[in-house]
Amino acid sequence: MSIYRLKNVLSPRSVALVGASPRRASVGRAILGNIRKAKFPGDFGLVNPRYAEIDGVPTVGSLDKLPFVPELVVITAPATAIAGIIDEAGRMGAAGALIVTAGLGHGAGSLADAAQRAAHKYGMRLIGPNCLGVMMPGGNLDASFAANMPRSGNLALISQSGAIATGMVDWAAQRAVGFSGIISIGDQLDVDIADLLDYFAMDGKTRAILLYVEAIKDASKFMSAARAAARIKPVVVVKSGRMEQGAKAAATHTGALAGSDAVYDAAFRRAGILRVSDLRELFDCAETLGRLESPPGKRLAILTNGGGIGVLAVDRLADLGGISAAISPETIQELDAVLPPTWSGSNPVDIVGDAGPERYAAALELLLADASNDAVLVMNVQTAIASADDIAATVTAVVGKYREKHGRSAKPVLAVWVGAHQTIGDLLSGAGIPNYPTEDDAVRGFMHLVKHREVVTALAQVPPAMPGEFAPNSEVARGIVASALADDRRWLDPIEVRRLLEAYDIAMVPTYAAADAEQAVAYASEIFAQGATVVLKIMSRDIVHKSDVGGVVLNLTSPEGVRDAAAAILSRARALRPEARIAGVIVQAMAVRLKARELILGFADDPTFGTVIVFGRGGIAVEIINDKALALPPLDLQLARDLIERTRVSRLLGAYRDVPAVKPDAVAMVLVKLAQMAADIPEIRELDINPLLADEAGALAVDARVVVGTAERKFKGSGPGNFAVRAYPSQWQRHIEVKDGWRIFVRPIRPEDEPLIHEFLRHVTSHDLRLRFFAPMKEFSHEFIARLTQLDYARAMAFVAVDESTDEVVGVVRVHSDSIYESGEYAILLRSDLKGRGLGWALMQLIIEYARSEGLKVIAGDVLQENTVMLGMCRDLGFEVKADPHEHGICNVKLKLRI
Ligand code: ADP
Ligand code: MG
Repeated sequence: MSIYRLKNVLSPRSVALVGASPRRASVGRAILGNIRKAKFPGDFGLVNPRYAEIDGVPTVGSLDKLPFVPELVVITAPATAIAGIIDEAGRMGAAGALIVTAGLGHGAGSLADAAQRAAHKYGMRLIGPNCLGVMMPGGNLDASFAANMPRSGNLALISQSGAIATGMVDWAAQRAVGFSGIISIGDQLDVDIADLLDYFAMDGKTRAILLYVEAIKDASKFMSAARAAARIKPVVVVKSGRMEQGAKAAATHTGALAGSDAVYDAAFRRAGILRVSDLRELFDCAETLGRLESPPGKRLAILTNGGGIGVLAVDRLADLGGISAAISPETIQELDAVLPPTWSGSNPVDIVGDAGPERYAAALELLLADASNDAVLVMNVQTAIASADDIAATVTAVVGKYREKHGRSAKPVLAVWVGAHQTIGDLLSGAGIPNYPTEDDAVRGFMHLVKHREVVTALAQVPPAMPGEFAPNSEVARGIVASALADDRRWLDPIEVRRLLEAYDIAMVPTYAAADAEQAVAYASEIFAQGATVVLKIMSRDIVHKSDVGGVVLNLTSPEGVRDAAAAILSRARALRPEARIAGVIVQAMAVRLKARELILGFADDPTFGTVIVFGRGGIAVEIINDKALALPPLDLQLARDLIERTRVSRLLGAYRDVPAVKPDAVAMVLVKLAQMAADIPEIRELDINPLLADEAGALAVDARVVVGTAERKFKGSGPGNFAVRAYPSQWQRHIEVKDGWRIFVRPIRPEDEPLIHEFLRHVTSHDLRLRFFAPMKEFSHEFIARLTQLDYARAMAFVAVDESTDEVVGVVRVHSDSIYESGEYAILLRSDLKGRGLGWALMQLIIEYARSEGLKVIAGDVLQENTVMLGMCRDLGFEVKADPHEHGICNVKLKLRI
């Protein structure tokens, strides 16, 4: 498990600090000072062979001289000593080490490698090296050399930069924002962003997770952890290097986008993570998401005593894609009754400059009760007439009462007190009302809530491995690519390209390859015979943009015209690109589609995230227009539509003026097919279709380029090795028959199974639940069920067994593999009234088969000793059963899957 022993490391009962020195301004001494200042309540020991005491704290010469076993060992010792210290700590039974020291090097034979190997021997976790440390305010642990520890609270920060972490802490100190944990991850030798996402996702004290990311290492692991975490709580990220990647030279337009920061955007979006542009926005976002639930819609009602600021807020809201809420007619009537006749009469609700607490209270109560808004922003501009403090106090009271009544379904309330002093901010914050210095910040905060809701909704989508009605001829396609690779070619020729697209049911204009002008004339006559006109293009693998060299001539109508054009194209190309290998000319039918939109669609391989899909406005000016969006596959129609929606050209796909709308989903379907092609044939390294002509008749490719090469498996586990996100594994759906002809349909679980699972759990006795969860279980929250049903099918997999005659879920079996895909933990639960009918046995066999196919070496689980039925079955299946060395009453069961 990636959170294996992390709890011991992050909330340790005992800590040792190795390497503190009395030197002023030394890192070790700073950490010692912080640990003491934070009043760590557990056992603490200082290890230093050279000094008897440091700052009045006595030391011991080595770890084993401590009177206790430290769960966490904090190391600031020199790099060369670290592997030895870890070895000693591991031998004693420490759970992990925090290596603050830098300069351990990288790779085989380095000091970092030695440290890792030492830790591995004892199953110890490592944080760092080269980090600022760890702050866990709730546990009074400050094992960092930051200047201050923030107060305890409900935000977790995982930072790839120590400096950013300290910046956050200073900011938090000024704004009364508290943290559940701040982890500077350093070089991520072992514990990485994904592990910590797993940890804080499950941490009950953490309401939102903030990330500062410079680069992701293992994208598949990251995506899997991020998607799981984002389903449970908000995850917000700032990533540096937005601008660092300029356009780079590449063979295709899509290829040029791979490796760019835009891919991170696509990945975060797919992971359900909200990306913000800078630290200030991260803080604001944390403030909002940490305090409020995201509303179901984006209609904001604004209550203000200043008209101008209200209008500014509405403008900003429109800019950012929100909606200024309407006020329902009933509410307007009621407002009329309590407000002076000069009130604005609509949103923003301007209750006029002389408004006092009572007027605020009356209007706010009405707005909160009005169903035509999703949230309320309360603003106050100080006046000499009414006290800003009194108004804040009244608003706080109204909101408090309202929330008490409505609980989790309460609408968000946000606040701006212009020019207010700190006490008002503290009052509002203390009451859980996020407050902002300006209306602009507040509206942005509201939009963070809205966007958060959007990304999380999108997360529940699980595209099928293969979209329903679509059956590509992947064998033919593979053959085309294989033969090009056998010829040692990087490019498919135009005919191969056409056949490849055809195999995936993507229409392409009739295309022929002619070696010379005469052959071109011959092909052209076939086209003329069908009543079309002809297009000629230069055919050369070295010429990327054919139009650049006058290599495209459209609308030829006669054989002579074709002959002349061919000669002209060839001679121009030879003159302009003497080094280019020229194979002849491409002969195409001219697609006469007057109202067609020219689009670009394609995919390429990103060094971090694997395959990325691109969509945008195409044509020969594609770079200049630069209207593109990226997405990570797999795609289903809905995700493809979302991708299209994110471009400006999407607005041209509908009807406008005398131009009819593009055939519904024609373009989205091509994207889905391309994503499927990328999954099936990883040897296709880059592909772009530019342009794809789209109009009311459908979509037609007229120009495409395909680069092939040897496929490399980037990500572990089964499924496409170049996809960072798994598809719904429909290949694991099957009908089985257990004892007495009982017919069961088993399939990987889906997010929409939540109600079925609730129903299922009602048929499991409390005794059986205790055997499964090792604790009495009464209520199952949405979060709890979501963790069961919303899986990434990478590290976590669960099958539901559905009774074919009743369509009820009768059993669930799951396996969760560790981050290195070595060992998986299984769990199984059956309906109590349907036990003893062979279902458990069948599901266990299924999960073993699945684990084996994933390449896991071991499948293991914990079983209560009293669960004799399960233990018996495990023995029969060949599991090794042992009493847990630490926990009484529990058996560890383990099955080796490979020798
Ligand atoms: P390149 O992108 O290498 O310059 P293309 O084959 O895309 O060359 O041709 C350039 C432009 O010519 C296209 O964007 C499209 O507008 C037009 N075009 C090319 N082939 C056809 C065709 N068969 N029918 C209609 N228009 C075409
Ligand atoms: Mg083109």
